Amino acid sequence: MKHLVASRMERCIGCHSCSLACARLVHKCLSWENAGIRILSSGGLSTGFTAKLCLVCDPAPCAAACPTGSLKQRKGGGVTQNKKLCIQCGKCAAACPVDAIAQDRQGNPYVCIHCGSCVEFCPHDCLELREAEG
Ligand code: SF4
Ligand code: SF4
Repeated sequence: MKHLVASRMERCIGCHSCSLACARLVHKCLSWENAGIRILSSGGLSTGFTAKLCLVCDPAPCAAACPTGSLKQRKGGGVTQNKKLCIQCGKCAAACPVDAIAQDRQGNPYVCIHCGSCVEFCPHDCLELREAEG
């Protein structure tokens, strides 16, 4: 089972290509806010960037908190997502200890499902899909 890891963020230039790829390819949206990976800056280019994404909990508190089964425990950690079952209650986002689930104005949640669609769109090789240990 593979996990997305933001392993070389010291190289990040904050272009949001990863988030835009996720929004477009996985979530069928056009905003980098509506993505499973979001890039944050603490000020400007000189202070660097961090990636906010799912840390593959096992068991996953977000899946346990979801009342409809829209988010389900993924084998090996993290979650799978069935958007059709989501009732936009926000319980998953509230349960995530690292604030990795973003909601849009309608309450739709965006979470990394570790598909790796973003990796090839990063121009600085900051991200990798890594085989889980153990
Ligand atoms: S979204 Fe948050 S709670 Fe859910 S598996 Fe990822 S890190 Fe854990
Ligand atoms: S694509 Fe790479 S460089 Fe661009 S914001 Fe994402 S992690 Fe940073």
